[in-house]
Amino acid sequence: MIKRILKNVFRKSAKVRTEGNAQVIPFGLHGVARDQISYGACKVTDGLQAAGYQAYVVGGAVRDLLLGRVPKDFDVATDATPEEVRSVFRRSRIIGRRFRLVHVMFGEEVVEVSTFRSLIDSGDAQTDEHGRLLRDNQFGDREQDAARRDFTVNALYYDPTTQQIYDYHGGYADTRKHLLRMIGEPKSRYREDPVRMLRAVRLSAKLDIRLDEGTAAPIAGMKGLLDNVPQARLLDEVLKMLLSGHSVVCIQQLRKMNLHHGLLPLLDVILEQPMGEKFVMLALRSTDERLSQEKPVSPAFLFAALLWHEVLAAWKMRLQQGERPVGAMHTAMDEVLARQKERLAIPHRQDAVMKEIWLMQHRFEQRSGQRPFRLLEQPRFRAGFDFLLLRCASGEMDDELGLWWDEFQDASSERQAEMLHPEVAGERKRRRKPRRKKAAVAESEAPANEHADTGTDVRFVE
Ligand code: ATP
Ligand code: MG
Repeated sequence: MIKRILKNVFRKSAKVRTEGNAQVIPFGLHGVARDQISYGACKVTDGLQAAGYQAYVVGGAVRDLLLGRVPKDFDVATDATPEEVRSVFRRSRIIGRRFRLVHVMFGEEVVEVSTFRSLIDSGDAQTDEHGRLLRDNQFGDREQDAARRDFTVNALYYDPTTQQIYDYHGGYADTRKHLLRMIGEPKSRYREDPVRMLRAVRLSAKLDIRLDEGTAAPIAGMKGLLDNVPQARLLDEVLKMLLSGHSVVCIQQLRKMNLHHGLLPLLDVILEQPMGEKFVMLALRSTDERLSQEKPVSPAFLFAALLWHEVLAAWKMRLQQGERPVGAMHTAMDEVLARQKERLAIPHRQDAVMKEIWLMQHRFEQRSGQRPFRLLEQPRFRAGFDFLLLRCASGEMDDELGLWWDEFQDASSERQAEMLHPEVAGERKRRRKPRRKKAAVAESEAPANEHADTGTDVRFVE
């Protein structure tokens, strides 16, 4: 009680002070205490300050604390060069070639330390023909460092020693107003780096704060600039969105702003099919939920979900043309992945997992003989099964199939034997020595969309 009264008195007497072009916000106003800063970040700022440098906690962590959220990680900005930082901390290493940062290690925690940078000073700032910055690696001072950041709420410098915040662009006031506002003139900031358009969508969704009108307005007319961004960076940002724990809101917002077109071209088609939209949204919702429960999520699973209806459509088409199921699935997968890669550089290591998940899907329909047991032994059975459940929940597959596998995987061997479906006559024989012509006819006769029917085991024997 006493503490609260004292805190209130203290708050009332706390005033914003001006220092050069910075507003200095005292602890009494913002209320972010040193003990809310991670052990490692405090060690880094203390160590650098003791060595005579400036050092602040910056970026997402200060913003999140001011908005009452738990920061993901703590970044530090300093006037020490990477080499100087490196010499203060034994357990540290310089990373990045173009944009050199230092990682300082404290057990599990890694604190990323960046040297103040400037844009303004670099008369020779290199841009491409669309105005996108190719170089922004010139050292600067704290004020210049603030000006090159994207949003006002991301450009706050917190000193854990004095518990003061240095603010050059009204970011503190914006946190109070729950407003995401671009520093400087939004159009030229998007031109410098079009990814900021996606960051605007992601951060406003994740933080549940309003995107300032002036910041939002130019996006519609400038989204074409995203075509010009290297694929690896786009993928990075798309992954951040999908794994933000707020992917549903992000995608909804992207669609509203028509930004998804440049990103996941196939997503346009998928989201326009009622079944596809339901499936993708369910996958995203379940990802958000897993993240909120701090369960791990796999990017490959998510990409597999996003592209599934595209793969499904390509597969069905090939089945209709009389191709055999497994072969048709391989071609469909390669086709969809190749198309998607033109835009998003999904790494090859994700391909393998995505394909495994997709290939497993038709095997879930084979419920006789040894096949269900072999499927259970697959290392990625769990991912495949979760994927199947999403297909059931979206209405693409009958719930009965999901329920069957749910029971089968944990059932006693007696019960498993009871649950098996009878072998379809002639199936064994055909499996040993496929009779090409007949099998092809049988497949082409079966309507492609009938694979939702769980009684079509025979169609998948190959
Ligand atoms: P998150 O909580 O998702 O990590 P963040 O704001 O910390 O959000 P980071 O990508 O970690 O995002 O970036 C750290 C800081 O670097 C940002 O807060 C911002 O100040 C600056 N920054 C990042 N990307 C850009 C960009 N494209 N343009 C300008 N400044 C950027
Ligand atoms: Mg961050």
